[in-house]
Amino acid sequence: MFDTEVLIIGAGPFGLSISAYLTGLRIDHLIVGKALNTWHSHAPIGMLMKSEPYGSAIAAPDGTSYDVAAYCRLHGLDDYNDRVGPLTLDRFLDYGDWYTEKLVPDLQDNTVTELARVDGGFRATFADRAPVTARQVVVATGVLPYRNVPAELAGLDSALLTHTADTRDPGVFKGRRVAVVGGGQSALETAALLHEGGADVQLIARSSAISWTEPTPEHLSALGHIARPVTKLCEGWACVLWNSPSIFRRQSEARRIRLAKTALGPGGSWWLKDRVEGVVDVLNSTRVKSAAPEKDGVRLELEGPTRSSVSVDHVIAGTGFRIDITRLPFLPEALSSSINTLNGHPVVSRSGETSVPGLYFVGAPTVLFIGPSARFIAGTHTVSEVLAKSVARRAGAGKRSEPQQQALAHVS
Ligand SMILES: Cc1cc2nc3c(=O)[nH]c(=O)nc-3n(C[C@H](O)[C@H](O)[C@H](O)COP(=O)(O)OP(=O)(O)OC[C@H]3O[C@@H](n4cnc5c(N)ncnc54)[C@H](O)[C@@H]3O)c2cc1C
Repeated sequence: MFDTEVLIIGAGPFGLSISAYLTGLRIDHLIVGKALNTWHSHAPIGMLMKSEPYGSAIAAPDGTSYDVAAYCRLHGLDDYNDRVGPLTLDRFLDYGDWYTEKLVPDLQDNTVTELARVDGGFRATFADRAPVTARQVVVATGVLPYRNVPAELAGLDSALLTHTADTRDPGVFKGRRVAVVGGGQSALETAALLHEGGADVQLIARSSAISWTEPTPEHLSALGHIARPVTKLCEGWACVLWNSPSIFRRQSEARRIRLAKTALGPGGSWWLKDRVEGVVDVLNSTRVKSAAPEKDGVRLELEGPTRSSVSVDHVIAGTGFRIDITRLPFLPEALSSSINTLNGHPVVSRSGETSVPGLYFVGAPTVLFIGPSARFIAGTHTVSEVLAKSVARRAGAGKRSEPQQQALAHVS
């Protein structure tokens, strides 16, 4: 006998959405984690969403009743435009908190410290509550455990180096010289926010030029929809492939690995261009060779066409994330070694189930098997319902009550 049928670890968009679907199916479950913690505590103050407003909605069983548009309608926010952003972080947080309050009211703010297999299921140990056993587990812990800091920067101590995911308040660098390393959205937006907050910023990017997205057209005609199919992830025919796990899964392994790296990045949103180009000092085609503390900060040795070194007070690594499930602090070797992986990513089925029956992963770690949407909130629309139904099937069709069967039929 288990304490709960399903334990969901993590309360970001994926965990919350799966909980909402399981509630809709009346499947007994426990969801743990700090609600939208990545967004409340790690996204930089003043940030704007990369995803369009309609693509920032967390999937819910009731269709559009809990999307960003519904939230804005109910709260009289008349300036909302569903198609064209950018949506502010603050509004997304208000929306996400409302979603949580309405659909996941039983969320428990606890942290899992260890997950182990027990007969027919799992046992989770916590930092702050008694252990819980569950027949099935969904790991929805996002990307933060996989922060990537390249070897050439890794030797700097934390007073001199931070990752973009830990640069919550760019204003603390006012009046200081800061090097931001990277050319993706996080690096570019952090550089813009630092500059606007009064820091002296040097952006160091390996690419020969920053690539920028085009603005989304505010209106699309019927023909426009054919030329530019709209998905939650993005718009255009390539997006149909990137946003469909079923089509994505039919691609060769080499193509899936390449698409996971290149689809929708690296690069910046169109609304960042004027805040970076000609404003922030950018060193393109430049690579950091080494970094060493010096009297007032850090000296970076560079390889590139314009500068061979820079001296700054602080370095911010906008160098993304490198998925490797063995880095998950709560996954002991005994369990991680029984999960089949590809380049550190768990091999998962269409519903997110790993090679360990009853153990599911969602979000960025599943990108090689679900597609680029797994890295974005859009992915909740392609995964949460399918996963919830898979979990519900294992929960035991035979034991289901009449209302549960009706709920399952409704979601089908
Ligand atoms: C700065 C930044 C900007 C982004 N902008 C966008 C954007 O505009 N649009 C977009 O679609 N995506 C964006 N992303 C990607 C974003 O991470 C995902 O879209 C989304 O947050 C993924 O949801 P998730 O549920 O997988 O993970 P997360 O949102 O990261 O949530 C994971 C949750 O798990 C919890 N957790 C972790 N470990 C444990 C544990 N041991 N026990 C209990 N709980 C735990 C965490 O506290 C957290 O609440 C951005 C990411 C970053 C870092």
